[in-house]
Amino acid sequence: MNLLEEKLSQFDPAVDGIIRNEMRRNEETINLIASENYPPKSLMKAISSMLSGIYSEGYPGERWYRGLENIDRLESLAIGRAKAVFGAEHANVQALSGSAANIAAYLSLLKLGDRILSMEIDAGGHLSHGARASVVSRMFDVVQYGVDPQTGLLDYEAIRRQALETRPRLIVCGASAYPRTIDFARFRQIAREAGAFLMADISHIAGLVVAGEHPTPVPHCDIVTTTTHKTLRMTRGAIILCKAEHADQVDHAVFPTLQGGPHQANISAIAVGLKHLGTPEYRQYIREVVQNAKTLSESLREQGAEIVTGGTDNHLLLLDLAKWSIDGETASVLLEEAHLIVNKNKIPGDRGTAKKPSGIRLGTPAMTSRGMGEEEARLIARWVVEVVTHPEEQTLRNKVKEDVIALCRRFPIYRMTF
Ligand SMILES: *Cc1c(COP(=O)(O)O)cnc(C)c1O
Repeated sequence: MNLLEEKLSQFDPAVDGIIRNEMRRNEETINLIASENYPPKSLMKAISSMLSGIYSEGYPGERWYRGLENIDRLESLAIGRAKAVFGAEHANVQALSGSAANIAAYLSLLKLGDRILSMEIDAGGHLSHGARASVVSRMFDVVQYGVDPQTGLLDYEAIRRQALETRPRLIVCGASAYPRTIDFARFRQIAREAGAFLMADISHIAGLVVAGEHPTPVPHCDIVTTTTHKTLRMTRGAIILCKAEHADQVDHAVFPTLQGGPHQANISAIAVGLKHLGTPEYRQYIREVVQNAKTLSESLREQGAEIVTGGTDNHLLLLDLAKWSIDGETASVLLEEAHLIVNKNKIPGDRGTAKKPSGIRLGTPAMTSRGMGEEEARLIARWVVEVVTHPEEQTLRNKVKEDVIALCRRFPIYRMTF
């Protein structure tokens, strides 16, 4: 048996079967996870090449191993495209994930123990912004801001006061669960006044920024980080953008400080994905993502749902379930039974716990990728409300599930059979 030539389905039916089942699960469910998306086939083709086995520590033109002329060309292409698409002075495409990109960004600007001012996880910030559970909270002195518990909005004047009182070396803005536009220019003013560096983590909204549906943080920030797999719709990875003056520190922080060799197969997929971002089709896709989120939010409200901040400016919204006496954990389990996939989420002023919060988060990037539009968003809103307001009714959930599957059949993700 030549192991290099074995077919997956013949050699390992267990793994092959799981992959096929997961593909089927995706085709038959509506994915409302705001951080997920479906990578285009061209990217999946790129990531499955023999570049998966390559070692390429270092950067184009300064590698530790030989035989990397093609890889140098590839990584330079990805870097050039990232700089052009975001209008950045420098780009690093090697970070293995958003969390790693953030840690590298901190390491490039700060000394261990320096103070960071960032958004609380309960208000919509990310673990890697310095939540207690993250190693970031042990590496740095993390102080956090929230949102106004009444409005759910960032209170820039309160953040300014906190920055002037606590004098952080770095202010981090950007979020995983904030449904409104972030005023990066305002954050820049605050950082300037407080004498702090400014970093924006646009993991969620990067696609909106590229398409002009959200103001860009790039001119205002020392460093901007983003994951590649959310609204950017690439395979999983991250990009760090920065001013030229921070370029060497950022590159050094990624390699050799934090990581070893980069995943070049993924960098090849990211290069393809960056080419997608410049097309009219991608901009149109993002406009539809935003429109679908608005329609979903408005339809939910029409049916009596409580939406945090009253709506959304971007691709996601937070549903406050308190008035219906159901928690986010229970709601997400019931919705899964109806083939509607969401995540539980804390909401501003939440009295629940992380495991049993009062809300759920809904996002439109994935449903929009499979071609669903406003009509489907209205149907989804109706189904979500039916399921969460009738937790005892198993037959209703079964009926919704059948309707969801029927809708999904009209919107295949990939036009291929299993
Ligand atoms: C998703 C996300 C990340 C983390 O990305 P991983 O690739 O899961 O490490 C970082 N920051 C924000 C704001 C995110 O939403």
